[in-house]
Amino acid sequence: MATLAADRIDRLCDLARTAARDGNDERARSYVRRARRVAERHRLDLPTRLKRFSCGDCDRYLIPGRNARVRTRNGHVTIRCDCGSHARYPYQ
Ligand SMILES: [Zn+2]
Repeated sequence: MATLAADRIDRLCDLARTAARDGNDERARSYVRRARRVAERHRLDLPTRLKRFSCGDCDRYLIPGRNARVRTRNGHVTIRCDCGSHARYPYQ
């Protein structure tokens, strides 16, 4: 069921964030991957926070100031992961 899957993704996001905050990047990464897999299987959109705060290259859950740098410029937010990958989003 779609709502159950969405709940699960939500919980995995929380777990990933907590693990990342505790400095446990590896564990956070595995939660991020699981959340992505569940979303894929159920054809759900990833929650915005997971889309923005996970690295598309290394699957790390990004915590600005810890493993990511955030910059605002020309109406865009740029989030740069420690692995060197970065993503840009329109500023809201
Ligand atoms: Zn990365």
